[in-house]
Amino acid sequence: MENFVVSARKYRPSTFDTVVGQQSITGTLKNAIKNNHLAQAFLFCGPRGVGKTSCARILAKTINCFDPTDNVEACNKCESCKGFNENHSFNIHELDAASNNGVDKIRELVDQVRFAPQVGKYNIYIIDEVHMLSQAAFNAFLKTLEEPPAHAIFILATTEKHKIIPTILSRCQIFDFKRIQIEDIAKHLQFVAKSENIEAQEDALHIIAQKSDGALRDSLSIFDQIVSFSGNKLDYKSVIDNLNILDYDYFFKATDALLDHNIPNSLHIFNEILNNGFDGQNYINGLAQHFRDLLVCKDASTLQLLEVGNNIKEKYQEQSQKCSNDFLLHCLNTCSTADINYKMSKNQRLLVELNLMKMCGYGLGQNTEAEKKTFNVKLSPSKELIKTEKPLAAPVEAVIEHKKETIVENVVQEITSSAPKKVTVATTSTRKSRTISMNPFAQKDEDKKDTSDELVIKNEQAFTQEDVTKCWADFYTKMEPTGKHNFLGIIKSKIGKVKSEDIIEVTLDNKVQEEVFKEEYFDLLRFLRANLLNDKINLITQIKKLDESEIRAYTAEDKFKKMADKNDSLMKLRDHFSLEIDY
Ligand SMILES: [Zn+2]
Repeated sequence: MENFVVSARKYRPSTFDTVVGQQSITGTLKNAIKNNHLAQAFLFCGPRGVGKTSCARILAKTINCFDPTDNVEACNKCESCKGFNENHSFNIHELDAASNNGVDKIRELVDQVRFAPQVGKYNIYIIDEVHMLSQAAFNAFLKTLEEPPAHAIFILATTEKHKIIPTILSRCQIFDFKRIQIEDIAKHLQFVAKSENIEAQEDALHIIAQKSDGALRDSLSIFDQIVSFSGNKLDYKSVIDNLNILDYDYFFKATDALLDHNIPNSLHIFNEILNNGFDGQNYINGLAQHFRDLLVCKDASTLQLLEVGNNIKEKYQEQSQKCSNDFLLHCLNTCSTADINYKMSKNQRLLVELNLMKMCGYGLGQNTEAEKKTFNVKLSPSKELIKTEKPLAAPVEAVIEHKKETIVENVVQEITSSAPKKVTVATTSTRKSRTISMNPFAQKDEDKKDTSDELVIKNEQAFTQEDVTKCWADFYTKMEPTGKHNFLGIIKSKIGKVKSEDIIEVTLDNKVQEEVFKEEYFDLLRFLRANLLNDKINLITQIKKLDESEIRAYTAEDKFKKMADKNDSLMKLRDHFSLEIDY
């Protein structure tokens, strides 16, 4: 039976030009050889499997070659080259410091350094994982490194440059090897596949390249492993099955479901993924990666950051057309929060599900320009009220969707905050204590009981400033556990004032406060409506007008103006150098 040689060895580069993805390093080395500017000690740094040892061996071979090519490559024909290629050259000495880190091995090596090579010009000493050498071994080695004989060249390699002591660093020419680009790895795998007569799909090779995380050696091992399993045809399916990778398709389907606000579908997809043995965090992170990829598709200049095969690239571009930047950012944010909370969560499945629902809810109720504007606190939110309160005036679908969103928002808040499941709030003294349920429908049911003789379930109780002040304080108590200090600060200091029978006005100091306030605005509104038993309540904000002297500088521009008022040479400076304020 023919001996199987692993691809990483069989296709190990034998010339500088065949080293994958390290062109700048091989170029520099070649130049140094050509100009006879070769250092006596090199330090090759970089992650594992990116070509450090290969480059060291090629360097050793090339500088010992009797007849190098014009292109500064080894001839692969002369006696020295043959020795190298057959692994019996006496010019190369390799020591793996990871397994031989004692002082004895280094002494042995140091003793050899004195002898000139029998064939060729240089003896090359390669010390792999040099950071693993013991302190004593380092010291024994240092002297040799300081004054090496002319025929000795040292190549130290390490994955952990920060562990190398400065005395060594200062004596070496340092080369930083980079992770190899996925595209480069995929190309190399294609070359290997062709040479081995293996029919390989481009997407399949891209997946392998991605999985190997920039290490060519790893990618070749994975390649071998899958080929031994699936034979001479390497397709996308066999690769993801073998590597236990989540199929791109899941993410495309999941994103479609989110875009369609299809909660059942997105839960089904998640369930299927769990059934296939993946965990929720895997899925959340995969989704985040997918959103990131969709986002980079949006702009021609970032398109190159998308590291996938060409077939799939088209799919990405197609789906990214359907997603707004805001949607993608919202989803990325949600995934990132879910990822952070995942380990702490007691019910991880539910956490993922709720976040999926939250993403499904994105864009509901703000589909039209008019609806979008109701999110802007500056405008009176009455339009929004009309839409949601008088179902007959709005399309039925929109109302249902609005409800869906409310549920999701509430539930998600419930799980992400440490607040107790139910909050009992005593409203004004004249009213009985009532429970606010996390489910607005349950709330409605209670209301129904309260006003059982009315057909229309609607609260329109009158309220006083005293009621509002009390309710405001209750809301503060409810929100306190969330630790949203900025918002809580506003609630504490800016109590809403009754403006007319159902309008409550909040006066804020500045735009920054308004931004903070806006974010929690709907929660507060819901709370007020539920607790003051009036669904018509509307919240408006206004920004306090200040005297010129009272204005405090918040933005960079304000600050500049204030300073310039005191010292007019600032204006001159700005005009002279055409400076702009950096926001
Ligand atoms: Zn040669």
